[in-house]
Amino acid sequence: MVIYADNAATTQLDTDAFEAMKPFLLENYANPSGAYSYSKKAKQAIKAARKTIAECINAEPEQIYFTSGGTESDNWAIKGFALSDYDYKAVITSQIEHHAILNSCYDIERLKHPVAYLPVDCKGVVATDTLNRYISDRTGLVSVMTANNEIGTIEPIKELAQIAHSHGALFHTDAVQAVGHIPIDVKVLGIDMLSASAHKFNGPKGIGFLYCKERVLQPFHNGGSQEFGMRAGTENVPAIVGMAVALRKNIIEMEQNAKHLRCLSEELLSILEASNVPFILNGHPTNRLPGNINLSIKGKSGEGLMHMLDLKGICVSTGSACDSHNQQVSHVIQAIGVPEDYCEGTIRITLGKHNTEEEVKAIAETLIKLSRI
Ligand code: PLP
Repeated sequence: MVIYADNAATTQLDTDAFEAMKPFLLENYANPSGAYSYSKKAKQAIKAARKTIAECINAEPEQIYFTSGGTESDNWAIKGFALSDYDYKAVITSQIEHHAILNSCYDIERLKHPVAYLPVDCKGVVATDTLNRYISDRTGLVSVMTANNEIGTIEPIKELAQIAHSHGALFHTDAVQAVGHIPIDVKVLGIDMLSASAHKFNGPKGIGFLYCKERVLQPFHNGGSQEFGMRAGTENVPAIVGMAVALRKNIIEMEQNAKHLRCLSEELLSILEASNVPFILNGHPTNRLPGNINLSIKGKSGEGLMHMLDLKGICVSTGSACDSHNQQVSHVIQAIGVPEDYCEGTIRITLGKHNTEEEVKAIAETLIKLSRI
């Protein structure tokens, strides 16, 4: 039996989402751009899904652009901004962003766009004071993630967006780990652009969206006129439909899921504490994603722990899934300054709505044994 505790890497597809997708794989497979009436159902399904997704984040349907996932949305936000900005204004981001943002920023730096990478405090928070020190009227875009994928810290997005706007800059947030897990209202938070990915909220893989308040970006994919002429390519209709069903369901169940995850997380931590496992909980102690438990265990190897847990059928990771081939201490763990004797023993346990108390106890007990070896 497998205990899956790597829900920040991906989540199980929701069964209602799967059922909603099926007809668009087998029966209504027409290209939504077709001129005949057989295409109508696919076209209508995309329209309905766009409306549902917009409602889930308090946006307007025409502000939602479907993409292939979080990576594409992030690339589009950063590079699309750079391609549209003839004044070479500066971009400000943080040191703990996902590599979809960081590598896009390195790319635009090569095109001579200045980029600043904000340091974070020891809890992984991008402080408003820090942004205030870096920002100027030459800043065109600020991009700070809503919640960190490794340590789960939730950032002060509303305040950061206000600072960006007071200097005439746009504000983008990579909300891939947040959408469907914590409340997101783009109007209340003052977000201009937001990236999301369906497989992080029990939707299918290979689909996501970029919310864009105004059409400030250059199209990223050129070709046909899909997505209001902003993102060419035949739409992935079943995935779009599945994403909308999964997101609506997670939003309806959000409070209940968050409560369940907080209880499980507290239980896991209290078992480890009671057994005197020498660990640090990384990230913000309270303002964090409900299912994220990022631990550094003194004198251990995170890589070793991960493989030993794997032998016991327990799936966790050392950092972000996309980084699992990288054996070094992650850029996030480095940025928050985890002490040397702890940092190499970092593992990320990310619980999801399907995890149970028995599973959490099994993870804790296995970790206790491994920490004593
Ligand atoms: N941004 C963050 C914060 C993520 O955690 C991830 C995936 O782990 C991505 C972007 C990339 O998303 P996707 O897997 O949909 O490309």
